[in-house]
Amino acid sequence: MPFSRPSIGPDEIREVTACLESGWITTGPRVQRFEQALAEYLGAPHVLALSSATAGLHLALLALGLGEGDEVITTPLTFAATLNTIVLAGGRPVLVDIDPGSLNLDVMKIEAAVTARTKAIVPVHFAGRPVDLDPLYDLAARHGLRVVEDAAQAIGAEYRGRRLGAFGDIQVFSFHPNKNITTGEGGCVVTRDPAVAKIVSTLRFHGIDREAWTRHAKGGSPHYAVVAPGFKYNMMDIQAALGIHQLPRLDGFNLRRRVLAERYQQQLQDWPEWTLPGKSMYPHRHAWNLYTPLINPVAAGMDRDTFMQRMTDCGIGTGLHYQAIHLHPYYAEHFGFRRGDYPAAEAASDRIVSLPLFPDMTDADQDRVISAMAGLFRR
Ligand SMILES: *Cc1c(COP(=O)(O)O)cnc(C)c1O
Repeated sequence: MPFSRPSIGPDEIREVTACLESGWITTGPRVQRFEQALAEYLGAPHVLALSSATAGLHLALLALGLGEGDEVITTPLTFAATLNTIVLAGGRPVLVDIDPGSLNLDVMKIEAAVTARTKAIVPVHFAGRPVDLDPLYDLAARHGLRVVEDAAQAIGAEYRGRRLGAFGDIQVFSFHPNKNITTGEGGCVVTRDPAVAKIVSTLRFHGIDREAWTRHAKGGSPHYAVVAPGFKYNMMDIQAALGIHQLPRLDGFNLRRRVLAERYQQQLQDWPEWTLPGKSMYPHRHAWNLYTPLINPVAAGMDRDTFMQRMTDCGIGTGLHYQAIHLHPYYAEHFGFRRGDYPAAEAASDRIVSLPLFPDMTDADQDRVISAMAGLFRR
């Protein structure tokens, strides 16, 4: 059993086949349909489909026009892409430790990290749990900062009754197979700022100011203008064919994820071997992309890495999301980060594990995970 598995239905397969047979497989009408469906679902005016969320973070940060030495505040408990793209866009990552209960960046600690060079904040909705956005946007407004939400794990999540993507500055979602819906690889940038949308739209395809499809449309002009040295970050119609049929299933997927997560919470609540995900007090809807308890090595009689190996031996996959980013060689060497700098993130990084969680997981699958753990812990 893997820790995650995409749920691909017959509609997705039929649409991909139809796309392949249509003669148009790269960016075209299906990408346009998928973008429109996303805009409607999210309640957002601008949705730009891309080859990945990493591409989305890169272009969103480039659209902010970071200059040499400009600082971008984010969390140490995230995927490499969050920080890599800050560096690639010319920024300097500044880290703020996490709140140990939510594993999200501690919004109360951001203000102390703001300097004259700070340009933006990149909050990560860890595991699909919305960051406390009201105080974060208040602070951003007071200091004139942009916000790029790394919502890779959080499509369908809500904060105070509003869907992520429906408000705020810029959001980036991922459609990687381990995320809440998938296009194989894929992602999108969502914004209410037409200037950001324009830059992302141009940079995603060679810096050309029009999409390939319109160029070939009836009556279209063969001419185009390169206005910037852009990238090749466009989504293909083959990918969008999957997305068009994944999106209507998203709320159902997330409901199943929530039921399974609550079942883990209930079944494991008295186990001293685990510290379970805590509650966040503001009204929200968690997208439960990941279920990430922290192992208590003394009670468990083993550390996290041993636990993961023993689960593999039982035929059960687990995931490691994430080793704190500041401890990776590039970040330690280039930015001088050291162990001890972000103790809450380090404590999570050393003990965190992602247990199997995906929409097609049955109660019996979950029972198998729980009884395998009971066996390992000799319960
Ligand atoms: C998956 C993920 C990304 C990258 O998404 P891709 O679509 O694979 O590029 C970025 N940030 C976080 C927090 C993620 O979970």
